[in-house]
Amino acid sequence: GLVISVASTHTHCPYCALNCGLALETEGGELTGQGRWKGSPLTGGALCAKGAAAWQQVRHRDRLRLPLVREGGRLVETDWETALDRVAEGFLRIREAHGVDANAVLSGGSLTNEKVYLMGKLARLALGTRHVDYNGRMCMVSAGAANTMAFGMDRAMTPLSEIERADVVVVVGANLSAAYPVVVPKALERVRRKGGRIIVIDPRAGRFVADEDLHLALAPATDAVLANGILREIARNGWVDEAFVRDRTVGFDDALDAAMAWTPTEVERVTGVHEDRIREAARLIGRADRVMYLHARGPEQQAAGTMNVLSLINVALARGHVGRPGCGIDMLTGQRNGQGGREWGQRCNQLPAGRDIESPEHRAEVAAAWGVDPAVLPGRGRTYIEILDMVERGEVRGLLSISTNMRVSAPDSGRVPATLDRLDHLVVIDPFLSESAEHATVVLPGSTFGEEDGTVTTIEGRVVRVDQAVPPLARRGDIDVIRNLARRLGAGEHFRFFTGAEVFEEMRAVSRGGPIDYSGITWDRLRDDGGVFWPCPAEDHPGTPQLYTERFAHPDGRARFHAVVPEAPPVVVDERHPLVLTTGRVLAHYLSRNQTRRIEAHERLAPAPILEVHPATAAALDLVEGQPVQVESRQGTIVLDWVANERIRPDTLFVPYHWEVVNRLTASLLDPISKIPAFKYTPVSVAPL
Ligand code: SF4
Repeated sequence: GLVISVASTHTHCPYCALNCGLALETEGGELTGQGRWKGSPLTGGALCAKGAAAWQQVRHRDRLRLPLVREGGRLVETDWETALDRVAEGFLRIREAHGVDANAVLSGGSLTNEKVYLMGKLARLALGTRHVDYNGRMCMVSAGAANTMAFGMDRAMTPLSEIERADVVVVVGANLSAAYPVVVPKALERVRRKGGRIIVIDPRAGRFVADEDLHLALAPATDAVLANGILREIARNGWVDEAFVRDRTVGFDDALDAAMAWTPTEVERVTGVHEDRIREAARLIGRADRVMYLHARGPEQQAAGTMNVLSLINVALARGHVGRPGCGIDMLTGQRNGQGGREWGQRCNQLPAGRDIESPEHRAEVAAAWGVDPAVLPGRGRTYIEILDMVERGEVRGLLSISTNMRVSAPDSGRVPATLDRLDHLVVIDPFLSESAEHATVVLPGSTFGEEDGTVTTIEGRVVRVDQAVPPLARRGDIDVIRNLARRLGAGEHFRFFTGAEVFEEMRAVSRGGPIDYSGITWDRLRDDGGVFWPCPAEDHPGTPQLYTERFAHPDGRARFHAVVPEAPPVVVDERHPLVLTTGRVLAHYLSRNQTRRIEAHERLAPAPILEVHPATAAALDLVEGQPVQVESRQGTIVLDWVANERIRPDTLFVPYHWEVVNRLTASLLDPISKIPAFKYTPVSVAPL
């Protein structure tokens, strides 16, 4: 009789950094659906509404099946050999005429670790350019920079399973109901049930915020003022963990000096949070033995994003709330591989395994592993938005983009189409035709999750495997494409990889002894153990779920306080633009919607961006229910539907960022340290249409 093989492949949802485990089901080699993976790490099989439909992207009818090349102004289908030749010829011609740095690479934090690693290597060894950066530059980099400055390492320090052991949880600028719907809200519920308290610091209260929580609805871009005020109260009440500060940190006195100007009255004046609430927050944090601090893009996507995070870290350090159970300050990464995406060398200032591209020692280590002279490795390049600026100025003429969609995601997006049209050569690799791909000279079909083996590193710093369930729809996976491109660019000998496992083997070796050590993590261990937390320096090492139990990662083992002097944003509200627009996620969509907008289950839940306005503001502006409004900023004017929301500050508006129109409003203002754009503070006006 006929035997049809039925298989179930354990993998992880591609739509956020929680990486919930799921099973892709196949019959006779065809994908038929997805099921639960009950034994999966952290989430135990739970999925949100978005993750529940994830499998539908893999064989979606709109997937690109063939490469496209531009002919007479149109993108037309072609075969792989022709397309890859065109890709390589374009970059080689630009390199010949304008030098190596006239080509650039923009990559993505949703790619597997293996592809991240290959994209960085491709930029440096095959294209030879210094300009390679990734879309996490618009997302997690302020947290990464602050963590590196304070602790000497860039990883969430405490596993999320510890949240429920905390007495107090402080949630800062994290839209948990939309962005981390599994595990985290439930853990908060357990904390509440055992009598613990939740403090929420956010201009807007998401659905996860309960009545009994202490909500500090601060004015946008006043995060460091509030944190300094809390630090001052903690010090004045004798709640500083003196022994911890003395034995394990440096710089406390300077940090406290900078905070002392911020009396509760002064903090209330700037943040709009009543001084009693500031005292109450300080008391809860100051008296609790175990506190977890969770921050996301709220404090980070600001012109002072890095300093904002450092001001929070000061509070956690002053209380000794790190390095022990139920304690820690964790950044909640956003993208699927938000953590691994910033570890493996696709950042302009970084070589693989967190190495510094400007450190002679790190350069020598990577050069040795790659079998090249250190002088061959380019120096530090420009960041994502800066690369787009270089394109605008004609300094970058060739751009290879993978897993990022500049036209939707970049701030001041109204200028991006013309910017992309300035390029002589734009190559886009993506599973679906994105808005940015419409400007390409060549589009190569990318693979989706479930089509290639690899690893990702979760929000917690846990390395997990994502396995192939079905072959790539367009016959070539991304690793295959990168290998063939490298060969055409004359660097074939450095790219002899056919599988994710082979790339991972090289990454392990390259990481040995480095700041981010994966060397003890084997491909098989990842399957058997359900993931391993780095650092893991030996095969018999259990991995490191909890960081900093004895030492921080700075050479002297101590954490660093930083004196934070709060500054107003470079452009503030005025008479013409009196309100502040802030952006964030909705549950239904992922990033620029390139992976979700064609899937009915996602699109039905959120078909359009809707502006949230406080009812008092709506009344004052004569907004009419059901009638669209016009929103204007210095960058542009757009029309949106709106809805009243009582849980947002009257001076603040919220709109989800997944649609191209939204970033026509935001500005290209960057944090000077992390180079993140200030998405969370745009002065706007709103009027009935
Ligand atoms: Fe889990 Fe995030 Fe996927 Fe939802 S989107 S199922 S929370 S990984």
